[in-house]
Amino acid sequence: MRTSMPSNFQIFDYWKDKELEKHFPVILDWGEPCCWACNKPIKVETQQLLDKCDFKEIWNRTSGYLERCHIIAKALGGTYEPENLFLMCPDCHIESPDISDKQVFFNWIKKQRRDCIMGYNVRKLKEELYKCCEIHNVDVEEFSKFVCNSDQNLIINKINTHGFKYSDSTILYAWMSEYLNSRNEVCNT
Ligand SMILES: [Zn+2]
Repeated sequence: MRTSMPSNFQIFDYWKDKELEKHFPVILDWGEPCCWACNKPIKVETQQLLDKCDFKEIWNRTSGYLERCHIIAKALGGTYEPENLFLMCPDCHIESPDISDKQVFFNWIKKQRRDCIMGYNVRKLKEELYKCCEIHNVDVEEFSKFVCNSDQNLIINKINTHGFKYSDSTILYAWMSEYLNSRNEVCNT
């Protein structure tokens, strides 16, 4: 039995032609690595490697971006075999259930895929949007229309990051601020 972690490529190699259920492949695109739960794309320079079909190098370069997560938790008797490991982004790794039931783990994976588009949790963001509109007494539809019809660069100079990425609330609340200002301008003219 293995006593240490296989590489990201070895895990990919085991799962590459497996399905979570019928017509539901674990890996959507061998050449475009993304989190196996939320589908967040991982930026590795793949074009040259793709031309050579060098999947070993492509998937080993995801190391550090895609974490090797136990399906059955190590503390609960899970092994280091590739069949007990799943490649996920750090956010999904933290959120994923640490349990000893493989099927329930995969049900969580399916839920995560439904909730997320390219790594963004749509369900969570929708809740945030409704809450943000509610506390500002703003109509969700009017606000959404305003955001969709505005130039994205409008807010980019007015927001900041904690560390290296904009938080979802930063973007949402910056748009709300723009929307409220634009309404005031209309009222004052
Ligand atoms: Zn993820």
